[in-house]
Amino acid sequence: MGAPGSGKGTQAQRLVTKLGIPQISTGDILRQHRKDGTELGKRADAIMAAGKLVDDATMLDIIRDRVAQPDAQRGFILDGFPRTQAQAEGLATLMRDLGTPIDAVVLFEVGADELVRRISGRRTCSLCNKVFNIYSAPPASPATDCVEGSSEHQLFQRKDDQEGTVKERLRVYEENTRPVLSYYSDAGLLRTVSAVGSLEEITQRLRAALAGGESAAASSPAKSARRAATRKRAARRKPAAVRARARKPVRRKPAAAAANKGARKSAKSAAAKRRVPRKPAKRAAKRKTRAPRRKSKR
Ligand SMILES: [Zn+2]
Repeated sequence: MGAPGSGKGTQAQRLVTKLGIPQISTGDILRQHRKDGTELGKRADAIMAAGKLVDDATMLDIIRDRVAQPDAQRGFILDGFPRTQAQAEGLATLMRDLGTPIDAVVLFEVGADELVRRISGRRTCSLCNKVFNIYSAPPASPATDCVEGSSEHQLFQRKDDQEGTVKERLRVYEENTRPVLSYYSDAGLLRTVSAVGSLEEITQRLRAALAGGESAAASSPAKSARRAATRKRAARRKPAAVRARARKPVRRKPAAAAANKGARKSAKSAAAKRRVPRKPAKRAAKRKTRAPRRKSKR
């Protein structure tokens, strides 16, 4: 996680080299799908032609498809996703289904003024999709890390990296990601890394945050306190869940169960017919069936 210009894409690439796992950028994959004219690409084309943003379900399908590939079996780095809480929740469900829960969520922290300056220098290679910065991370010339047969990267400035749109992007980013950060903080997955300094310094902080886990990366007492409060809330919720399970009816013989169901139904409809004012029929029926039990207790 990190605002546009926080350097998370660059750091993800460095982690790819060090850990030997792929970086999964949903934006790049989507562009590739559209270029290749796959089913997903066509679906995205249709959505975008209608002037809409690609929906969460399509984005999750893209991720599901990508993480199934052989190079992602040892792990992967998600870059640029999730951006909203709904996406975060969808991703958690998908990862649970696949049996590969997320290990950590890293937040790259940079001040707003620095972000605007950085973005104006950003360039992307149209051949290999690598991201450079003409000020802080220029490509080598000649290039040895572009696609085969190309000795120079073909750099271009993305429209949304142009200064006029940057401030609006930062505002939208803040608004959308604040709930996502709380979501991951509450889940105990968030690691915050200061993303100011040399590339190597930031990579070292990143690796320390990943290796050290939650406690080492906890940057403020307020955050730890909030997590502790969440854990307490969760602990308090547990007895309620246990009670709910205990209240579930014990498995009866089929005939008896059917008879009981019928009885419950008629009690319900009787209650509904009586039309007790301001009380739902279900509750009225429950009260009725519970009453004798209370008597026998006394
Ligand atoms: Zn290139």
